[in-house]
Amino acid sequence: MTVILPPDEVRERVVEIRRTIHRHPELGFEEQQTQALVERELGALGVEHRRIANTGVVGVIRGAQPGHVVALRADMDALPITEKSGEPFSSEVPGKMHACGHDAHTAMLLGAARILQSMRAELHGSVVLLFQPAEEGPGGAEPMIAQGALDDPKVEAVAMLHVDHRLHAGTIGVTPGPVNASADEFYLTVHGRGGHGAYPHTAADAIPAACAMVTALQTIASRETDPLKSVVVTVGTMSGGYRNNVIADEVKMTGTLRAHDPEIRNALESRVRRIVDGVAAAYNVKATLEVNYGYPPVVNNVPLAENFSRYMKTHSQLHVERPMPTMGAEDFAYFAQRVPGVHIRLGIRNEQTGAVHSGHSPEFRIDEAALPVGVQTLVAFATSVGSGAVAFK
Ligand SMILES: [Zn+2]
Ligand SMILES: [Zn+2]
Repeated sequence: MTVILPPDEVRERVVEIRRTIHRHPELGFEEQQTQALVERELGALGVEHRRIANTGVVGVIRGAQPGHVVALRADMDALPITEKSGEPFSSEVPGKMHACGHDAHTAMLLGAARILQSMRAELHGSVVLLFQPAEEGPGGAEPMIAQGALDDPKVEAVAMLHVDHRLHAGTIGVTPGPVNASADEFYLTVHGRGGHGAYPHTAADAIPAACAMVTALQTIASRETDPLKSVVVTVGTMSGGYRNNVIADEVKMTGTLRAHDPEIRNALESRVRRIVDGVAAAYNVKATLEVNYGYPPVVNNVPLAENFSRYMKTHSQLHVERPMPTMGAEDFAYFAQRVPGVHIRLGIRNEQTGAVHSGHSPEFRIDEAALPVGVQTLVAFATSVGSGAVAFK
């Protein structure tokens, strides 16, 4: 079977839907208009669907031929950014923008639904369409799973697409193993004892202690982690003190901890704690640390990623690359923890049209030539895994 580009009417519809959603961005768990659009489109196509996780939608396409149950996931939420892309279909909502491409993800999954629904007679297995809210936070994947998104019918493999400004339109990226990092937040407070700035010996200054902690935390990446593995320890904010001649009694810091390897991730909290407690003792202050665990790393199933990558190289005209993993995070991780999963990257770069900015930039643009490529890739995943042409075990 050759993987073919979608017909013109599907392309045009996908572009139209993408631009409509782009004009009306909605933040996590506020995706009412987007949800209604998805429901209208699935209803018009005759695809059975149900609401889930407040503003999410699950659709099911049941093929007439025996095969596997494959899920395709698209996220739907926007970001609190004021758009400066200059696109004629820019956001009509000040302070909100589809700057991560989730508008394109939703439109492409609807395009794939259109094609898959039309080929039900020859379709092997079933396809579950996961329209997910709140990827940018607080996270829609976990509530969808908790409310049975993967259970009825029972999903055996899952894929997602994410637009990627590093790759040109016409290229997809499939990398086996870890592709996104875990993202955990930490809140660190240094408790000293205040006093007059002229008499530091009568106080316990929180500021030099905090500075020493920031410096010492750098050794987690540079001295404690295998140089061939990845970790990020970032102190993102720091605040404390009152004025020039007062010793600060307290400094508050926040930061992010990221890793690909679950073992490294799981050891980070105790490493941070050991270092800040040690520095606190040395500086005669106290430290309190709180870690809020966020998304786990996305780990692409190795056989599924290898087999799908090989399949697309032989059956499609697309460039199939193996891009480097990133330290960004994705709550697709929860789906991929449940069943074999692949995060597929979709090239959207085009220097001629200014589609060169990374996601979360107010200037973010997409080369829309990528949209039919994404539809084609989703359809190819569903049909090849559903029929067993691409094995996942
Ligand atoms: Zn994003
Ligand atoms: Zn995103």
